[in-house]
Amino acid sequence: MAWKVPMTGPLVGEEEANAVRQVILSGWLSGGPKVPEFERAFADFIGVRHAVALCNGTVALHAVLVAMGIGPGDEVIVPDITFISTATSVVHAAATPVFADIDPVTLNLDPQSMERQITARTRAVMPVHYAGQAADMDEILAIARQHGLEVIEDAAEAHGAEYRGRKVGSLGRAAMFSFTPNKNITTGEGGMVTTDDAELAERLRLLRNHGSKITYLHEMVGYNYRMTQMQAAMGIEQLRKLPRILERKRQLAAMLSKAVQEVPGLEPPGSLADRTHVYQLYTIRVNPALAGVTRDQLRDGLTRLGIETRVCFPPLHSQPIFRSGAVLGGSLAQSDRAGEEIVSLPIHNTMTDHETAYIGEGLQGAACR
Ligand SMILES: *Cc1c(COP(=O)(O)O)cnc(C)c1O
Repeated sequence: MAWKVPMTGPLVGEEEANAVRQVILSGWLSGGPKVPEFERAFADFIGVRHAVALCNGTVALHAVLVAMGIGPGDEVIVPDITFISTATSVVHAAATPVFADIDPVTLNLDPQSMERQITARTRAVMPVHYAGQAADMDEILAIARQHGLEVIEDAAEAHGAEYRGRKVGSLGRAAMFSFTPNKNITTGEGGMVTTDDAELAERLRLLRNHGSKITYLHEMVGYNYRMTQMQAAMGIEQLRKLPRILERKRQLAAMLSKAVQEVPGLEPPGSLADRTHVYQLYTIRVNPALAGVTRDQLRDGLTRLGIETRVCFPPLHSQPIFRSGAVLGGSLAQSDRAGEEIVSLPIHNTMTDHETAYIGEGLQGAACR
């Protein structure tokens, strides 16, 4: 259906079109200078020594796990509410994802639940900065240090988000950012790993290019995970626009939250004072007893008004691919509850004030029936 207000709308235009056009006319489409230029700019923006660009965020996570030597027999703890790649990248590396519960306010990984899931096989933890707000990194890093675990940030949704004055992507041993079109900046498809670890960055560069530095000489079994020149040229332009994009996101989120608070039974996203929220997603919670409708009834009402919504995300442990076997014990009660109550509303940079107000009216209409 054609939505009146769709979930995504990337802010791309003449700047990106011109940059891509120049690359195409140069005839140098891959393996050229635009990729290191984008990597340098991104590393500087995050405040780390190294950034490695890959063709998407999912393979970027896979490459990080392989580069760290994580594989068969190893366990990686991930939050139960996240996009599927956080967990499937672990499966791609032939390791086992273990699901931990989430904080009910931020929907981020609960450090206590994470600690309870640690076993002798645990090698790493992959906190997700859900919707664009940092996870409880100090607690997570302290627990990881105690148990000798790697910390890989899934920062796919959190370009520019800050945690206690530092940018996410600089907090763990490595971090992944995604540039798929629903993220705050996009290269069509694309991913980036940030790290201060020079050896890790070097291994990622090898893995990205068939394990080869010298043409047709292969030092390890690698992949073709390269980013194209067109993607990188677009990324350079998008990174310039990011501050403006984040400023508009904050405005849109403030407008939406005002509208959400006026409807009984609806809760705006919980945002904490010691970190900035960059609102790649805007996720509310529906309390059916107070709202008079269930989450799914609210979604149906909004759909009838042409307002697209999504459940970001159904609990991992409820997915058909994870329903049997590998998942270890432990309560996922908060995740189960969120799975019934959360819904994400449109928030993107081509959304107008008028459309934002329309969502507010839609919530009023869809709830108090
Ligand atoms: C988008 C996303 C990914 C995957 O990134 P792609 O570039 O689409 O492969 C991974 N994790 C999270 C949390 C995401 O939101």
